Amino acid sequence: MPDTADRVLRNARVDGRDDAVDITIVAGRIATIEPARAVDPATALPDTARGAPGPASLDLGGRYVSPGFVETHVHLDKSCIMDRCSAHEGTLAEAIREVAKAKAGFTADDVHARAAHTLERAILQGTTRMRTHVEVDPGIGLRGLEGVLRLVDEYRFAIDIEICVFPQEGLTDNPGTEELMIAALERGARVVGAAPYVDRDPHGQIDRVFAIARDFDAPVDMHLDFTLDVSRMDVAYVCAKTREHRYQGRVTIGHVSTLSALPAARFDAMAAMLADAGVAVTVLPATDLFLMGRGIDHDVPRGVAPAHRLVHAGVNASLSTNNVLNPFTPFGDCSLIRMANLYANIAQLGQRAELALCHEMITGRAAQILGATEHRVAAGAAADLVVLDCRDATQAVAQIATPLFAFKAGRMTMSRAPAVLHRP
Ligand SMILES: [Zn+2]
Repeated sequence: MPDTADRVLRNARVDGRDDAVDITIVAGRIATIEPARAVDPATALPDTARGAPGPASLDLGGRYVSPGFVETHVHLDKSCIMDRCSAHEGTLAEAIREVAKAKAGFTADDVHARAAHTLERAILQGTTRMRTHVEVDPGIGLRGLEGVLRLVDEYRFAIDIEICVFPQEGLTDNPGTEELMIAALERGARVVGAAPYVDRDPHGQIDRVFAIARDFDAPVDMHLDFTLDVSRMDVAYVCAKTREHRYQGRVTIGHVSTLSALPAARFDAMAAMLADAGVAVTVLPATDLFLMGRGIDHDVPRGVAPAHRLVHAGVNASLSTNNVLNPFTPFGDCSLIRMANLYANIAQLGQRAELALCHEMITGRAAQILGATEHRVAAGAAADLVVLDCRDATQAVAQIATPLFAFKAGRMTMSRAPAVLHRP
């Protein structure tokens, strides 16, 4: 163990090792991972789990240390507004309409307070990195951005936040919105988003979004093909634009629920096209389940794109939360391990390797979408970690394991005591 260690996580389990290990953290990074040494009972978990920022040495009792969870797609600005909206139809059109009405009353302080609440829930669930979408249009102006932008510094101790600005109420059909997107990028948004299906000319919006992204040398992250109508898909157009602008590896598309409705041969062709263009896919199981298939009274389709099949075809994919407590998704606890479990349920995945892949899609694969390629528990990597009350990634997904500790650059940011059974 290095003499300069800031912290040692003793008796831990990590991916790729059968034995228990000690993880030494120096200057915010993992310095060494070595076979576990005998533990001093005085530092055992029940005694050390109480206080943050916590002791320099922590015995994890053989629990699993995962890379911190990574949220690639979440809407902090419109979270926690169910008390201001209704969701009677449960359709996408109703959700956009209801949120547009509620947005008229948003102030920067109101957005900040709700977004901070949601963000803290995410941190308490073990999330250490996030891309959040923020809406701009002539109605909300930059108030949403102002509310969310403040969180980037306020919560830097626990989470890296990247803002993706996007035109939920249209771009080419909504004059003034493009200027606001540009203003948002000048003020700190890092990614250009889209919702092409809300404009009459979706390809026109896609063209403008790529043009803006090129001007700012920014990545692109679009909501795309958020229906079950396979007769009208924009995936091929986005892949073509990605190649044309040499944007391979910098474009992500979210939802793409149409992929769930394609016959196998057409799905395989689409997956090959995405892999070839280097376009990643974020699947948003909670929202897709809630909004898709409305109006169908039996054999209701799930409407959730098969992310695992995309990965097998060479596409990078992540699973993410999307909405929390609003008409797009009137529930949510910001738990990504629950989202991975939900996806496994929907996609009928039960084998060990399949469950481990679900975990990858909320950790390493998700981080890669955000440009963080070294997001793993390995010597040299940043110590952005979550300790789960289980033995490995498979159990974590299968059992929705409870996060007990989170660390950002080696500093403890969250702790939760394991539940105790009180016998008579
Ligand atoms: Zn979204």
